[in-house]
Amino acid sequence: MEKKQISSHMQKKKKKTSKDPCAVCDENLYYNDDTTQRVGLLASDDYTIEGWMCPFCKSHFDLDDNLVNINHQAIRIGRA
Ligand SMILES: [Zn+2]
Repeated sequence: MEKKQISSHMQKKKKKTSKDPCAVCDENLYYNDDTTQRVGLLASDDYTIEGWMCPFCKSHFDLDDNLVNINHQAIRIGRA
């Protein structure tokens, strides 16, 4: 389960791919070559990015893509 993505806030530096699935809901977080659909989460100082949130299932991850707060209710909802 090694993951290399550190992209906290819409910036991708990894090799190009159109596949960037969320580990929880499996939605594709890929947006384009430079941007993901990850939502950056700011720390309490409003400057430090401490992690990111999946816009689909609202689960929270830290900057190493470790799951911090899973949103169980959202896993099977998918799109309305
Ligand atoms: Zn998700």
